[in-house]
Amino acid sequence: MNKKKVGIVGGGAAGLMAAITAAREGAAVTLLEAGERVGKKLLSTGNGKCNLSNLDFNAGCYYGPSDFLEQCFLQFDVQDTISFFEGLGLFLRDRNGYLYPFCEQASAVLDVLRHEIASLGIQVETMFRVDSVKPMQGGGWEVRGGKEIRRFDAVILTTGGKAAPKTGSDGSGYDLAKALGHRIVPVVPALTALRCKEDFFPSIAGVRTDAEITLFSKDGAVIASERGELQLTDYGISGIPTFQLSRIASYALKDQKELKVKIDFLPQIQADKLTKLAKERMSLRGGRSVEELFTGTLHKKLVILLIKRLGMKPSEASDQISESKLIEFFWLCKNFTVTATKTGDFQNCQVCAGGVDLQQIKDTMESKLHQGLFFAGELLDVDGRCGGYNLQWAWTSGWIAGKYAAGMTGRQG
Ligand SMILES: Cc1cc2nc3c(=O)[nH]c(=O)nc-3n(C[C@H](O)[C@H](O)[C@H](O)COP(=O)(O)OP(=O)(O)OC[C@H]3O[C@@H](n4cnc5c(N)ncnc54)[C@H](O)[C@@H]3O)c2cc1C
Repeated sequence: MNKKKVGIVGGGAAGLMAAITAAREGAAVTLLEAGERVGKKLLSTGNGKCNLSNLDFNAGCYYGPSDFLEQCFLQFDVQDTISFFEGLGLFLRDRNGYLYPFCEQASAVLDVLRHEIASLGIQVETMFRVDSVKPMQGGGWEVRGGKEIRRFDAVILTTGGKAAPKTGSDGSGYDLAKALGHRIVPVVPALTALRCKEDFFPSIAGVRTDAEITLFSKDGAVIASERGELQLTDYGISGIPTFQLSRIASYALKDQKELKVKIDFLPQIQADKLTKLAKERMSLRGGRSVEELFTGTLHKKLVILLIKRLGMKPSEASDQISESKLIEFFWLCKNFTVTATKTGDFQNCQVCAGGVDLQQIKDTMESKLHQGLFFAGELLDVDGRCGGYNLQWAWTSGWIAGKYAAGMTGRQG
């Protein structure tokens, strides 16, 4: 029996999953990878530990059309990911819902995928950078890389986006998709830091603190908020809450030069308690400097910055400090506003927002424009929150694309 020939362009998480699934469905699979080896980006995920999914899961963890995403996750969800990796022999570790390989080595995830690729007889061609994908007259696909030509019954594009291009994802997939008539939703960096205008950041660099950060639109309306461990750097803000808001900031900063970001350094204290706090602190005045008066409220570097912003000297005596000044201090702790001017660039972000428009994609991951052309992974206009959701999207979309490309059952979507 003639096996269906499936070509996969890009050997990242989505491509590896698509290749394994298509081969398990009985297809003859060839994986074309531009780099020297497959799965380079996987090795740097989760700080080298690979946060491969998350038990706290729903379609709301993603930016993208929720109906489409729900249809996808109904086909392959977190439990399927767990079964898939356990089936490959990988023990998993659950850290408050965040899933990692038990050994906490990203290389183990790549190794079990590579072993499965080899045992299924999937042909892997590295150093094969695809520069054109064209439908052939009479059916099938012609894929070219330089002078090399390969022909397939179905092709799956899994080239990733533009994030961390040193791992291979240089954005070439968008050109391949565009050449085939696909629309690209503007691509911006996401899961990245925010650069801020203020010159005091070097004085607070290195501080990590629980905080709530809020983005405001030009007209002062709240766009979004996130709470978590904020990291202050010499150029601005980073850490998980900043990462979570960065895709919104990226799109906002495409249309405007600056974005106001309010930092609440005391999210555990309600605003109506500030006067009470100030009154209590009044009794600690005397015999202490202003800096010492605020010891124990925030990190010392932040205390000094806030004192200076209120026009006081850290070393001055606290005896005469007024209650209203104390209220001002605590108010500023909760309403510290900075000005973001840029997000991290594509070199310094974890994923891209934007990509191949889902309106032209079926929930089988097949193009609505071309039979036998499939997409998966970050190349599509889907991005998730920080916490394993982007890899889960790669596993889900890769699995679906692999299954339907191998079967090509022509399910309409
Ligand atoms: C530092 C970092 C840490 C991260 N940590 C996590 C994490 O812990 N958890 C999580 O869920 N997500 C994480 N992510 C995001 C996650 O890694 C990606 O969303 C995911 O790897 C995307 O998979 P992909 O297969 O779509 O694309 P990629 O992994 O980018 O793979 C694309 C592949 O296609 C190849 N390619 C590109 N163009 C061509 C071409 N023209 N011809 C042939 N081959 C081509 C590339 O060389 C590459 O190998 C992290 C990302 C980064 C950068």
